[in-house]
Amino acid sequence: MKDKSVFHQVTEHDHEKVVFCHDKDTGLKAIIAIHSTVLGPALGGARMWSYASEAEALEDVLRLSRGMTYKAAISGLNLGGGKAVIIGDAKKDKSEALLRKFGRFVKNMNGCYITAEDVGTTPKDMEYIRMETEHVSGLPEAMGGSGDPSPVTAYGTYMGMKAAAKKAFGSDSLAGMKIAVQGVGHVGGYLVELLSKENAEIYIADIYEDRLREVSKKYKAKVVGMEEVYDLDVDIYSPCGLGGTINANTIDRLKCRVIAGCANNQLREEHVHGPALVKKGIAYAPDFLINAGGLINVYSELRGYNRDSAYAQTERIYGYTLDVFELAEKEGLHSQQAAVKMAENRIERIGKVRSTF
Ligand code: NAD
Repeated sequence: MKDKSVFHQVTEHDHEKVVFCHDKDTGLKAIIAIHSTVLGPALGGARMWSYASEAEALEDVLRLSRGMTYKAAISGLNLGGGKAVIIGDAKKDKSEALLRKFGRFVKNMNGCYITAEDVGTTPKDMEYIRMETEHVSGLPEAMGGSGDPSPVTAYGTYMGMKAAAKKAFGSDSLAGMKIAVQGVGHVGGYLVELLSKENAEIYIADIYEDRLREVSKKYKAKVVGMEEVYDLDVDIYSPCGLGGTINANTIDRLKCRVIAGCANNQLREEHVHGPALVKKGIAYAPDFLINAGGLINVYSELRGYNRDSAYAQTERIYGYTLDVFELAEKEGLHSQQAAVKMAENRIERIGKVRSTF
């Protein structure tokens, strides 16, 4: 049986620190996990979610904080990886006092953890946290913050998609390419805008009819069914909804040569579905690399937000994606594996640089 003891879980992937936060008056129950601070302070959003159990919350925060370490490292940022989870229903349990109390706990971490918005938290919530600590990013633009990260995330995804197209088709032009975007929410919507500017032939799928109508009308995209999206004869499939869509039920149906989207954790089982995509000759742009625009955006805010520099740094995702494909080919790895290796290599190299005063 898997050892579920707290210390086993914390040491399994070498997390540095886990802090359990509790406040009786506000009902706050939160966990802050610091996976690594080798490259810099650990930045990662605060997720508010009704977890079925505390064990599930711990598992989530450990997994997510580790993911942040790799995302920052591969994007060339001087940031470590961290994350926080607040246990509770974001619609019912959130209050100014609870968020500010959480801010006090972040303050007590003395800058080794920087928080930001995530599922269940908003830029407005960050304003409350900011009242207690300066170690918060992702504030509204009106407060000098970087605002909505989605346009920058979409831009990074677009860069990663172009790099993957270069790998698969020998050219990074997306003009005339048939592209299926699955999920046209915040990021997917901005991505469709970029693709339409490049005259791609766009297909869209989503749960929300209204949103589909809006995006379809604005960008002349063709609406397709939720399941149909996997069977389309397209060049590129872009998962921009939820994770896990590349799995045993979908891989055989895909006809595309490139997969590049912003959704997190697209491969249901990395070690199975990563190699399966290689076998099918599909160039898969690693999700955590090409959706790093949002992180780059909040990172930029820490140094006084500059939109141009955030976009310029996000543009580098193009080159990093090509580097990943090169490493994957050289070492016989699948692209997600190569991306993790690239991140680990940088952490090791820079960790040594920082070993002297
Ligand atoms: P969102 O909620 O605004 O949009 C997601 C859209 O996908 C929704 O319209 C939803 O109806 C649709 N969707 C969900 N499952 C679907 C399915 N099976 N088929 C078709 N449509 C489906 O979210 P978002 O902010 O645009 O983020 C999209 C994804 O990108 C998420 O996985 C998120 O974790 C990831 N991501 C977002 C950012 C960011 O800056 N917002 C940064 C990094 C990663």
